[in-house]
Amino acid sequence: MLPLLASDTIHRRFEMPLTPLEGRAELRDALAFATRSIHGGPGPDPTTGAILTPIHQSTTYVQEEVGRHKGFTYSRDTNPTVAALERALGSLEGTPPAVCTATGMAATSVLCLATLEAGDRVVLGEVVYGGTFRLLAEILSRFDVRVDRVDSSDPNALRAALREPARLVIVESPANPTLGLCDLAAAAEAAHAGGALLVVDNTFMTPALQSPLEFGADVVLYSTTKSIEGHNATLGGALLSRDSDLLECFRSVRKTLGAPQSPFEAWLTLRGLKTLELRMARHSSSALQVARYLAKHPSVARVANPFLEDFPQRELARRQQRDGGGMIALELEGGTPAVLEFLRSTRLFSLAENLGAAESLVTHPATMTHGSVPPAERERLGLGDGLVRLSVGLEDPNDLIADLARALAAAGGAR
Ligand SMILES: *Cc1c(COP(=O)(O)O)cnc(C)c1O
Repeated sequence: MLPLLASDTIHRRFEMPLTPLEGRAELRDALAFATRSIHGGPGPDPTTGAILTPIHQSTTYVQEEVGRHKGFTYSRDTNPTVAALERALGSLEGTPPAVCTATGMAATSVLCLATLEAGDRVVLGEVVYGGTFRLLAEILSRFDVRVDRVDSSDPNALRAALREPARLVIVESPANPTLGLCDLAAAAEAAHAGGALLVVDNTFMTPALQSPLEFGADVVLYSTTKSIEGHNATLGGALLSRDSDLLECFRSVRKTLGAPQSPFEAWLTLRGLKTLELRMARHSSSALQVARYLAKHPSVARVANPFLEDFPQRELARRQQRDGGGMIALELEGGTPAVLEFLRSTRLFSLAENLGAAESLVTHPATMTHGSVPPAERERLGLGDGLVRLSVGLEDPNDLIADLARALAAAGGAR
């Protein structure tokens, strides 16, 4: 792990208004998630009474004298609006304030540069976000970091991989885009046996639906770009942990790397948090309804959503998730021509990357998010040309089903 820079220890304590729940764990723990997501950030602005934390669009902060300031010096290090988001996220996860970054990939970069050294080994889930794979396999490998990929849906495969020591184990559950689950408690045990930290990319679930730290994970990573902000409006990332030293190390690397969250994006993300539980409940119930419809459709070869009745890891899904989430993986009969026609024919589902927002989206992983995975590898991992990923939005589910019915009819005609 990188040693802390001396200057980082000076301004740990921000002179910001206390959040209504801060320092009062017993009060926070007694409140339900929806209440914490509204009251977990800082209280009203002390100078004006504004109920929302203002957007502090300022690069620098005037110091009273050398070494005396209010906890903020330069916004590449930290910014009051970003700090408010970090405290709100920490309150939801039951941790110290998060470390918020410019994008999800910036969070992954900060994580890796803070924890890895030349010669280190990383065990990476086989099915993960394409950018995570590229960072490790194409960039960090040049700095003598070794990456071994393992089927993270198989606890025995993880245990076998960790017989050799590693520094990090990075997994997603559900994985993007196949929705395979990782048994997080078993993964934590395997990682710790190999001397590694378990990092869970919890982007698909958000803190509303899954709490990896409770299963023994050491670090939770988010692309807040997705469901946490939830309106297709921002890019952002976050790292959370119960280990304050590790968080300080992330802060130090974020500052040096120059990858902080921006105040406006942080403000929009704070706003997104307030409806997170409502949105995730709606995404989940609509996705389940849509998946049940698709499961019965003759043009559909396979459909997956973790809470669907015949999902292979349904028991694990019930054990570690509070709901199924808004994502569906879908394979069509009729191969590439049918898929292309389907992607041309939806009207409410827009063909786009991103997920977890109000607008329903459809993605073709083989040519879009996972285009950099070699074709043979894609086939082996279940990311073939026939795979379609749906992000079920907040529209009325019956309208979404009608849209898919029309597109499936068109795709059937293309066979
Ligand atoms: C999108 C995504 C990322 C990367 O986040 P960006 O904000 O686009 O940089 C990482 N992990 C998962 C699971 C994602 O879906």
